[in-house]
Amino acid sequence: MYDIVIVGAGPAGATLARMLDSTFNVLILDKRNFDHGICPINKCCGGLLAPDAQKVLGHLGLGIPKNVLVGPQLFTVKTLDFDNHIERFYQRHYINIDREKFDQWLVDLIPEHITCHFGVQYKKYRLLADGQIEVTYTHDGKNHTVKTSYLVGADGGFSLVRKQLGQGQKLQRYASIQEWYRVNDLMPYFTTIFDKDITDFYSWTIPKENALLLGSAIPFRNDVTNRFQQLKQKLIKKGFPLHTCIKREGAYIIRPTKTKALSYGKDQIFLVGEAAGFISPSSAEGFSYGMRSGLKLANAFNALERTLTRQHYEKNCRSLRQNISVKNLKAPFMYHAFLRGAVMQSGIFSMKMNGQHHAAP
Ligand SMILES: Cc1cc2nc3c(=O)[nH]c(=O)nc-3n(C[C@H](O)[C@H](O)[C@H](O)COP(=O)(O)OP(=O)(O)OC[C@H]3O[C@@H](n4cnc5c(N)ncnc54)[C@H](O)[C@@H]3O)c2cc1C
Repeated sequence: MYDIVIVGAGPAGATLARMLDSTFNVLILDKRNFDHGICPINKCCGGLLAPDAQKVLGHLGLGIPKNVLVGPQLFTVKTLDFDNHIERFYQRHYINIDREKFDQWLVDLIPEHITCHFGVQYKKYRLLADGQIEVTYTHDGKNHTVKTSYLVGADGGFSLVRKQLGQGQKLQRYASIQEWYRVNDLMPYFTTIFDKDITDFYSWTIPKENALLLGSAIPFRNDVTNRFQQLKQKLIKKGFPLHTCIKREGAYIIRPTKTKALSYGKDQIFLVGEAAGFISPSSAEGFSYGMRSGLKLANAFNALERTLTRQHYEKNCRSLRQNISVKNLKAPFMYHAFLRGAVMQSGIFSMKMNGQHHAAP
């Protein structure tokens, strides 16, 4: 019998587990094994820690270990606007990381009194007559059940817990594909690509050691594979070395273009991280939102224990919600071709480059 069962040990679930008072009896489940590189399930991700995420790590008193970092570290965003045929460079400070190692590190920080069951698949929950929740998960094809007072869905953008709560339909979903290419010449930029023929969101390239990662978030209803191929051909024409593909991966990504897409849960069931809809609608930055919402729920549990309600947690998340509203206000300057063209044309905040790779698209 547990006080809290958390489904998902990504940045949101791992932060929640770490920050809960030791008085709670907690179980955390994940389908990944977190077995230091042996697990076949990888999280598809760009692996860039934006300044907001760096700030949250600082706030949590954490510094990233060396083994989580990958080269090159990036100081420049190169923006290619195919709609307006403009290219600009901007100074930004990202930390380039190995996503699996980052998640592994956060999991390693979970205190020993928390029970971790990894390599298991959450299946369903059932409300019992005595007010408890029965949680079913599978391990090696066998069903297991546990009882808990509270259930937390920290199971990401395709959250099964959220779906089972009947709140999944509020979300605007994108399919993202990432391909990894072996390269010799690393372009030391995070490249963001805007092209309305491909997506109304954006595409990107990120250098990672001896590879260049090409990704795009494409509206789910569109012909995702064809659009991704079109994007690749356009970039090859521009000289991007996208020839030797060494890995292909995909994931859903959500975009909370309205705060009503956010869901905090219901009764004794709570949602955190991307499962709740917490991710930047303008950049798809999700680490800071995952960790912050995990922390907000932990603080709410620690303060109120068994009297915690969804309304308390929702109130605690006010700053996160406001943050998403501000990003949505900013979005037209990135995603409306005319406005973006005007901003980029003006050159405001951009930097001059001495190196190569800066011909207009
Ligand atoms: C292609 C792509 C690139 C991205 N790049 C970046 C980036 O560079 N920087 C950034 O800040 N954000 C990025 N994001 C967003 C970021 O990855 C997420 O917002 C962030 O990981 C959300 O954290 P989370 O803990 O809420 O969910 P997740 O990290 O998705 O963790 C959910 C966990 O739940 C587990 N799980 C799911 N279902 C089950 C189940 N049924 N049973 C058991 N376990 C389950 C999963 O294994 C996973 O460990 C990217 C997203 C995508 C798709």
